[in-house]
Amino acid sequence: MSRRHDTVQPTRHVDPDPRFGFPNHPTPTRCQTEPTLFDFTNGDRSGETRPATDNRLDKARRACSGCPIVKGCLQWALVNKPITRIGIWAGTTPTQRTTLRKRMVDRLGPDWIDVLAERNKARRERAAAARHNPLTVNQSRIIRLDREVNGPMPQPITPAQQQRNMARLVAGLKAA
Ligand code: SF4
Repeated sequence: MSRRHDTVQPTRHVDPDPRFGFPNHPTPTRCQTEPTLFDFTNGDRSGETRPATDNRLDKARRACSGCPIVKGCLQWALVNKPITRIGIWAGTTPTQRTTLRKRMVDRLGPDWIDVLAERNKARRERAAAARHNPLTVNQSRIIRLDREVNGPMPQPITPAQQQRNMARLVAGLKAA
């Protein structure tokens, strides 16, 4: 099955930003299995009645809310404005995405796409470093030994425990 983001029809040919890969998922998403639900253009209802459009959009939004890649899908749709001018992406209409892009400018500045790309790159590099530098055998042994000798890390004391301890202390002092 073709992936929806590969088949979107931009008004003019624009490649997606290569710094943002569309998130992968092993099972087809609802927008792949039922693409007509997600087909939406501002102001063009193609003869469809308003309630019918609203009903369809509602179904699409609900499908997106249960989608395992909704977060990555939204980011991809926001950064790739030229190719997501139409349609429902991550539960958002084109107008909602315009609003979200303005918020990103407010939060991260006019170069918010570059900022996000840098953050994603740094996150990928940290994940790769963690994969390539697992704990050495000796580090694992030390951690295991520490747990055996000292037990698990102490949990922070709760207010109820604090009160009980205080009551015992006061009782002990009076008895002394
Ligand atoms: S969040 Fe919605 S539009 Fe995005 S991949 Fe999932 S079903 Fe498709």
